[in-house]
Amino acid sequence: MPALPYKPGDIIKYVEMNMAEGGSFQKGMNFRPRGGTSLFLMSTRRGAPYNDRVEKQGRVLIYEGHNAKRSRGGPDPAMIDQPAVTPSGRFTENGRFAIAARAFKQKRAPAEPIRVYDKVHEGIWVYNGLFNLVDAWQEESGQRKVYKFKLVLAEDQTTSPARAALEIEHTRVIPTPVKQEVWLRDKGRCVICGGDKNLHFDHIIPWSKGGSSLVAENIQLLCAKHNLAKHDRIE
Ligand SMILES: [Zn+2]
Repeated sequence: MPALPYKPGDIIKYVEMNMAEGGSFQKGMNFRPRGGTSLFLMSTRRGAPYNDRVEKQGRVLIYEGHNAKRSRGGPDPAMIDQPAVTPSGRFTENGRFAIAARAFKQKRAPAEPIRVYDKVHEGIWVYNGLFNLVDAWQEESGQRKVYKFKLVLAEDQTTSPARAALEIEHTRVIPTPVKQEVWLRDKGRCVICGGDKNLHFDHIIPWSKGGSSLVAENIQLLCAKHNLAKHDRIE
C-alpha cells in the first residue's frame, strides 16, 4: 500500500486529495479503485443523506451503505432497500464491501483496508486515517433495509515511520460537525500564525492526556509548523 503524505486530521483541498489518491472521486464508496486502496468518503454533516457515526471516541466508524442508482421510471432509491447487486446482476459497492467483510469474519481474508475522508467545507477535506473493515450487516431504517459497515482504526497508519509517534497521539477521528464548527470558528487558519496552508485539526489537550475529540473547545486549527512545534514542547 503506497504511503500517503498525510496523517489523520490533516486538512487538504479536494484537488490535492484526488491527486494523492489518483482519481476524481465523486462516489462515497470506492472498492479498490484502479486496484488501489479502498476509499470511503463520509457524510456525517447535518442534512447529509447517510447516517454515518463515530464511536469509541473516534476509533470506530459505522458507515452507512449507499442507495441504488436512480433509474428512469424506477422507484426512488431512497425509498427501497439498498441493493447488493444491480438490475444487470453486477455487485454494487455495498455488495463488494459486504463480501470482503464476510471473508474477514470467516477468517478467509485479512480485513479490507479503507482510507476515510470527510468534507468540512466546500473543496476542503480531512483525512481521517486508515481503517480496517471488520463487519457488515443490513438493518431496518424506516421502511427499508440499509447496509452498515463497521470500520476500526488501523494500528499502523502506513505513513512515514517518523510520523508514527505523532500518529499515535493524534489518531482519533473528530466527528464532522465538530470539525466544521472549528473550521468556521478559526476561519480556516492556523490560530497562531494565521497561515492557511498545511492545516491540521489539533487536540488542545492531547487525546493521550485525556483531551476529548468530541467537543470543539478542545480542537483547534494549526499549520504543520506550529503543530510540530507544539509536539516538541509537550515531549
Ligand atoms: Zn501556524
